Amino acid sequence: MIDTALAKRIRLVGLDVDGVLTDGGIYLGDAGGSRVELKRYDIQDGLGIKFLRDAGLKVVIVTGRVSDSVRHRALELELDDVVQDSAARKLPALRELIARHGLSLDEAAFVGDDFPDAAVLRVVGLPVCVGNAVPEIRSLCKLRLERHGGRGAVREFAELLLKARGQWSEITERYVRERSQLAEASA
Ligand SMILES: [Mg+2]
Repeated sequence: MIDTALAKRIRLVGLDVDGVLTDGGIYLGDAGGSRVELKRYDIQDGLGIKFLRDAGLKVVIVTGRVSDSVRHRALELELDDVVQDSAARKLPALRELIARHGLSLDEAAFVGDDFPDAAVLRVVGLPVCVGNAVPEIRSLCKLRLERHGGRGAVREFAELLLKARGQWSEITERYVRERSQLAEASA
């Protein structure tokens, strides 16, 4: 569970990619002589991210691995910001990003799974880890999810955060209502 006052203070959700938005697997291949890197994303996580954005929260990606796959997924999810820092210096990258949005670190939540996330998790207001995070990362987090990275962990977090903020029913009911209206309009 997330404390209500803490949940209401959060205005930005930062997400790691490998091991959080994915199960950590990477498909490496070759297409016509070019290196191709593919990742597998979870559709239920995608809808959870939409719900967070519908609730007025900013959602950003901070990753230490540069890949076109992340760029495509971020565009598809209409994320508010994406930082792909090849040197994996996530804390300076997140600090800069948060300042750009006029926010502070205690208004941020971050979901991580492994050592590259440690520096960020130590300073954000709501540090969160996926169910299969390494023990050292688990010990840094106020919220430990049950679902694993790439298997609905981000969706689980979205639901817990929005329920703690009292927004879950409103957001999900609105989502269903809007789609009912579309169906009626085209009938
Ligand atoms: Mg990771």
